[in-house]
Amino acid sequence: MNALHEVRMLRPVHIDDAVRALAEDGAQPLAGGTDLLPNLRRGIGAPRALVDLTAVAALDAVAVRSDGSLRVGATATLAALADHVALHAGWPALAKAAGLVAGATHREAATLGGNLCQDTRCMFYNQSEWWRAGNGYCLKYRGDKCHVVVKSDRCYATYHGDVAPALIALDASAEIVGPGGARTLPLAALFVEDGKRRLTLAPGEWITAVVVPPTAGWRADYAKARVRDAVDFPLAGAAVALKRDGERLAGLRVAITGTNSAPRVVPTDALLGGPWDAASAQALAKAVQTTSNVLATSVATVRYRRRMAQALVCRLVDELWAGG
Ligand SMILES: Cc1cc2nc3c(=O)[nH]c(=O)nc-3n(C[C@H](O)[C@H](O)[C@H](O)COP(=O)(O)OP(=O)(O)OC[C@H]3O[C@@H](n4cnc5c(N)ncnc54)[C@H](O)[C@@H]3O)c2cc1C
Ligand code: SF4
Repeated sequence: MNALHEVRMLRPVHIDDAVRALAEDGAQPLAGGTDLLPNLRRGIGAPRALVDLTAVAALDAVAVRSDGSLRVGATATLAALADHVALHAGWPALAKAAGLVAGATHREAATLGGNLCQDTRCMFYNQSEWWRAGNGYCLKYRGDKCHVVVKSDRCYATYHGDVAPALIALDASAEIVGPGGARTLPLAALFVEDGKRRLTLAPGEWITAVVVPPTAGWRADYAKARVRDAVDFPLAGAAVALKRDGERLAGLRVAITGTNSAPRVVPTDALLGGPWDAASAQALAKAVQTTSNVLATSVATVRYRRRMAQALVCRLVDELWAGG
């Protein structure tokens, strides 16, 4: 393991100071550190300054607003979300996804903002400096070729976050600040299908909060497949939000993780208005297959991860359709 390179640590209390600090060239947000610090210890990344957001006043607030929506501050911990009474009452899929991240000790430190913005992963990248140097690095960091798709000019490292697909299925938006001011973005638009670029945030921009609309008749759930239930990333994960009107699917939002370089929305428009039956399950499984782009970025096989994504989605729709 490498020693950390020299880095300035800043711990602003006021949000304006955090915005100013993160506008500096080479500054990077630090939240719980459960993703960022292991990478830095492995020599991946070399920020000039780390701006610890966890002391910024009220950035961890979780509140149900007067219009019935939920606003979650970026530094709210995943443990707080997993246990929050308001989430269990109104947005249980979000509480569940937060509660399924990593292990219990990670969730005490890990934050919502850090979870959403976590790095993409690949078995050729999440390795020691010694290992990566011995293999000529790769084009995600310090190298010039991809070991997964050899002739590719882009990185296919996989996004394995649990919370983003749940929030996308719940139709959430991210509140963003930066040197150019504040803006709001539909959560799905935060991500880009490129394992190196990852996010659509401009230099100096960062997330202050996520807003989730009122559930208004939608039921939602999240499920993941992993090797060890006590700690692992999703090899595949799926979130579904569904609205049923008698024997018709009145609304269906599906998002998957662990399959692409970004959490992906699965198109479902063709299923709306019809029943949930064997034919629609087959069509949805096909749509998951078409949307996903599972490659050999982890030790679990491509076929297993692809099949699990399909199975998780169909199982969740089954359960939500039946009223579960
Ligand atoms: C053993 C192990 C198992 C894990 N299992 C899982 C798992 O099952 N599921 C899962 O989703 N993750 C998992 N993780 C990854 C990580 O622990 C979580 O994603 C965690 O939620 C990251 O949050 P954090 O606050 O610690 O982020 P940090 O490590 O502090 O930051 C992560 C990234 O986000 C950026 N960032 C932080 N806050 C913001 C912000 N407000 N705006 C913009 N950028 C920001 C940082 O600059 C950094 O690039 C695991 C990690 C380990 C070590
Ligand atoms: S997908 Fe290719 S470029 Fe990206 S981290 Fe893996 S080996 Fe590197």
